[in-house]
Formats: sequence, structure tokens, C-alpha cells
Amino acid sequence: MQSVNPATGQLIRDYPEHGPAECAAILTDVARAARDFSRTTFAGRARCMTALAELLIAEAPVHARLITLEMGKLFREAEAEVKKCAQVCLYYAQHAEAILSPTPVRSAVAESCVSFEPLGTILGIMPWNFPFWQAIRFAAPAVMAGNAVVLKHAPGVCGCALAVEDLFRQAGFPEHVFRTLLIPLDLVESVIAHPGVRGVSLTGSVRAGRSVAALAGKHLKKSVLELGGSDPCIVLADADLSAAARTGAAARLQGCGQVCIASKRFIVERPVADQFTELLTTAMSHYVPGDPFDPATTLGPMAREDLRQALAVQIKTCLDMGARLLLGGHAVEGPGFYHEPTLLADVAPGMPAYDEELFGPAAALFVAEDAQHALFLANDTPYGLGAGIWTADVDAARAMARHIEAGTVTINGMTKSEPALPFGGVKNSGYGRELSEFGIREFVNIKTLRVF
Ligand code: NDP
Repeated sequence: MQSVNPATGQLIRDYPEHGPAECAAILTDVARAARDFSRTTFAGRARCMTALAELLIAEAPVHARLITLEMGKLFREAEAEVKKCAQVCLYYAQHAEAILSPTPVRSAVAESCVSFEPLGTILGIMPWNFPFWQAIRFAAPAVMAGNAVVLKHAPGVCGCALAVEDLFRQAGFPEHVFRTLLIPLDLVESVIAHPGVRGVSLTGSVRAGRSVAALAGKHLKKSVLELGGSDPCIVLADADLSAAARTGAAARLQGCGQVCIASKRFIVERPVADQFTELLTTAMSHYVPGDPFDPATTLGPMAREDLRQALAVQIKTCLDMGARLLLGGHAVEGPGFYHEPTLLADVAPGMPAYDEELFGPAAALFVAEDAQHALFLANDTPYGLGAGIWTADVDAARAMARHIEAGTVTINGMTKSEPALPFGGVKNSGYGRELSEFGIREFVNIKTLRVF
């Protein structure tokens, strides 16, 4: 497995894979650790989780450097990612016990209650776009619930995957409660099939989601899928257009556009379409590709050459089918996997920018006749992860939000995940929830106790 620096295209390091025997041995160790760990107290787990948060804060620049080297996001974005990981650790350190404490329920018998018990080993299959956050967002609740975890990370971020494993060890968690598996795809089924593994959480593409869901079904394991989106951002005629354009450009171009909950389809009401188009084009044009370690840079490289090529094909297909280019449109020549910020107009059904996720620095702009038409366009997608509405009439936006097919709706701001709020999608964006009380309850045995 190879880490390649996306800013230069140069190899950083080779990592030897775990073979089938080594993978099986790790799973045995983790299953044994899971049994002991399930009997530990919340207070003990919380002490380790708090220590993990402290380590993440103290060592943020070191880990951020690794993130930027392996997947190319701006160093300041990487530093913010590591610090956000500390927040999710602290959230579950502070709240897991209360969320999972046994709940008495009135029933037909003298005494009954519901408790939340650990399941065993949980597998996380994670992508490269937030190499620390995706791994820790998945692991922190699973571990605070008393499970052990194994992480199969994307092969380009092996350094990050091993660093996260090491952090759990340093924080005081027992050996094998968190293990990283450096395995190719053809070993994934053997991991899901392992009797100690009781669930799998995947963040990634729809293709990967279908495959993992099928394997989880075949082996009867619980699954949670977070599969990206093609998030609409509705801009109504009474909106603060400057704020919408500024925030929209920032949302779309963070992480070089490789963020599942970024606004990707801007849907603007006709009376303000020309004005908003100009504001958004200008705002996006201020993002200039450059060295992700340079504090002045606003747009880093994409994470891999094949991802850049896939984006180029999507853009070209749109243009060949009649879309109009308002900005950018091209890969940047020279070393590294840079791509210009790109804005498309006149996008219609059948085009990739309408039907698919554009996972790079490219957005599509649509004109809606009125709010109802905007709602139709927002929902006319196979995805349903996040959505945004910009308007001066927040009550009307609240009402509209009820009808948007998405896991999160944000009014007059940027969609972001945060530890206390559930995160996930509907339709092809997957199922199940991460974060909050809902996320930690995904991988527990919800046990009924009845006493006569
Ligand atoms: P993938 O979905 O292929 O990769 C994400 C993770 O899933 C990786 O660890 C990958 O491992 C694993 N994976 C892929 N296929 C399978 C499978 N059949 N069984 C088990 N695990 C699997 O994403 P890509 O990196 O190829 O990116 C492609 C597209 O996916 C993007 O353009 C974007 O649309 C979407 N995506 C969405 C993300 C999100 O945040 N929701 C994050 C990343 C991508 P391996 O790399 O070894 O195949």
C-alpha cells in the first residue's frame, strides 16, 4: 500500500499489507480484547477517551502534517480536523454513560427495563477525505459503548490509520481495543464474516456501500452506511446573496471539494439568479490552487489522480451534453493533482452534475422559477445527505425543510457535522446515523429485561 503526496505526485512511503493469517490473528486478539473491555466501567473508558482528546490537541500539528502529506488538504483544515476529533472524544467521554444508562419502562410485568450492551468487534471501513475524523467519529462512540474496533482505512492514508491506532494505545486503552488492518479489498469479506465482528460502518461511495451492505446481509451483521451526497443549496429571492455566495463557495471548495456534505448544486430563484451567479462565480474564482502547506493557499490538490480524472470526465460529459462553463473547468498542468474551481450552468437531467456526486472543486448552478420549483430540484437527486436554504424568512425555510429529502437541513449557514447532532442520510446517501445519542446506539445490543 502506498502513500502518495497529492501536491507533488511523489511516493511518500510503502506500507506492507497484512496477509490473511495476520489479519485473522489480529481479529482473534481484538475479539478477546472486546470480551474483557465490555466489562470495563464507563468511568474507566471515559478517562482513556479524555486522554485521547488531550493527545489530539497537544499533537495536532504533527498529525495535521501527516494528513496534508497523505491526502492534500490545506494544513489549516487538517489541523482543524484533528482538533474536531478531540471534541467528539470529549462528547462521548462526557455523555456515553447517561445516553446508555438502563431505562425503566412500564410494561405488563412487575419490572422491566431496557439496557444497552456492547456487541463485540465493530469494523470501520473509512475513506481518505477526513482520515482522522472519519476514523475517530466512528470509533469514539463504538468504544465508549464497550466495543472494540478494527479499522480498514483507505490505502492512501495508511500513515494516518496507524497514527490513530497508536493514539488509542497511548491514551491508555487496552492493547487490541483499536486495531488497524492494512488489508486489500479481497480480505474484507473474511473480516465481516469473522464471528467476533458484530457490525460494520462504512463511509464512502455508493458502489462500496452496495458491496458492504450485501456482505453484511450475507453474514447477518448490522451495518451503517454514509455514502456521500449531491447536496442542494437553495437561495431564495429574499436571501442575503453575498453571505450565501461567500459561504457557498467556502462550503463547496473546502477539502478541494471532496466533502460529502458540501453544497454541490446551487438552486437560485430567478429574480436574483444573475446577481447570485456573478457573486458565486467571483467568490469561487478567489480560490487559487497551490501548496497546501502555504498559509496563503486557498485550494489544495485533489487526493488522487484517478479522482481528478473522474471529475474531468464528469465535467466534459456535462459540457458535451450542453452545460455552460461559468468558471474553470480544467485540471491544472504540472506536478500534483490540482484542479481549477469550476462552476457549471444549464445543467439538465442525464448530466453527471445532475445525477451524480461531483467529488472535487466543481459546482452546478440551477435557476428555479419559485420556491416550489426549488424544492423539486433539491429533491430530484438520488442522494439525500445535507441541504441548505438561504432566505430572510426563517419560518418559511423551517416549513420547507420538512419537505427536503435529506438527513440534515441548514438554514442560512454551512452544513457541518457536530458531536451532539445526528449525522447521516436517506436515499443513496445511506442509512443509520453517526454522532449524538443516535450514533452510539447503532452498535449496541438494546436489551430488554423483564422481572415477574
Ligand atoms: P470508495 O468508496 O471506493 O472508498 C472508501 C472506502 O471504502 C475505502 O476504504 C475503500 O477501500 C473502501 N471500499 C471501496 N470498495 C469497497 C468494497 N467493495 N468493499 C469494502 N470496502 C470498499 O471511494 P473512492 O476513494 O474510490 O472515491 C470514489 C467516490 O466515492 C468519490 O468520488 C465520492 O463520490 C465517494 N466518496 C464519498 C465519501 C464520503 O465522505 N461519503 C468519501 C470518499 C469517497 P479501497 O480504497 O481499498 O478500495
